[in-house]
Amino acid sequence: MAKIIDGKAYAEGLRARIGKAVKTLQAEHGLTPGLAVVLVGEDPASKVYVANKAKQTVEVGMNSWEYKLPATTSESELLALVEKLNKDPAVHGILVQLPLPKQIESAKVLNTIDPAKDVDGFHVVNAGRLSTGQDSLVPCTPVGSVMLAKDVLGKLDGLEAVVIGRSNIVGKPVAQLLLQENCTVTIAHSRTRDLPGVVRRADLVIAAVGRPEMVKGDWLKPGACVIDVGINRIERDGKGKLVGDCDFASCEKVAGSITPVPGGVGPMTIACLLHNTVRAACQQKGIPVPQM
Ligand code: NDP
Repeated sequence: MAKIIDGKAYAEGLRARIGKAVKTLQAEHGLTPGLAVVLVGEDPASKVYVANKAKQTVEVGMNSWEYKLPATTSESELLALVEKLNKDPAVHGILVQLPLPKQIESAKVLNTIDPAKDVDGFHVVNAGRLSTGQDSLVPCTPVGSVMLAKDVLGKLDGLEAVVIGRSNIVGKPVAQLLLQENCTVTIAHSRTRDLPGVVRRADLVIAAVGRPEMVKGDWLKPGACVIDVGINRIERDGKGKLVGDCDFASCEKVAGSITPVPGGVGPMTIACLLHNTVRAACQQKGIPVPQM
């Protein structure tokens, strides 16, 4: 049976280290990192994410600002707010919660955020820096996924890694990070032929598909490490349930290690957002980034 990778515990440890780093920055440099989160509209899942982000930001001792705008907000109004936050020296990180209402072009908004404050790592400048191996702010879920894989496997050097999914938010950045870790990376997607055959080559599988329980145990190489990024809400036995992109019951019998859903990659995302905010604050002030 696979080792269950406890993302919740790892994220708690990371948040505790971030809290310590924030205290040191306040004592030694008078710097309190600050994160502004912007929510447009009433999407229930987004409201929960934004509330959790604000709560955890405060818990590690950082400044938090929440901007809640109506669903009717125009693109120019949102861009004006982003410009204002770009200029505010107390705000070191800006996050605009996705998805945005349809009258607003997401790419335009994301690319208006100052790349130095782009703690989600979605700005083209940060995506470009990541893909050319330069220092950048990296999307949070991919960073968290790779942290968990490294925690359980140690060095990833030379491993065969298969990423399922090629979104700009998860699949592509996670593949770039694995390349930096010297994995041999395959990116699979909806047009991939013989996906089970491709997945069977992998020492490390990262599933970011958005299809409940798609990856089965008999697709896996015995002993593979499985990082399941998927969060899918399904109905089972008349009850709502969260499941990943991997069929946990069959995968845990074959894998060497596996993240559960919930409690795997999910909790890492906000912890990595806080990590990025501390980093962004230090870089903006010319202070060395503390070990976290
Ligand atoms: P997208 O919908 O943007 O991308 C899904 C990817 O999966 C696409 O590249 C698509 O291929 C590929 N795909 C779809 N169907 C198949 C298939 N049958 N076989 C192979 N590949 C397929 O999703 P995201 O990347 O945004 O999110 C992926 C999952 O991760 C979701 O469940 C989401 O909820 C979860 N997630 C979790 C986060 C967290 O833990 N905090 C954060 C972000 C996402 P193609 O490009 O060809 O269409």
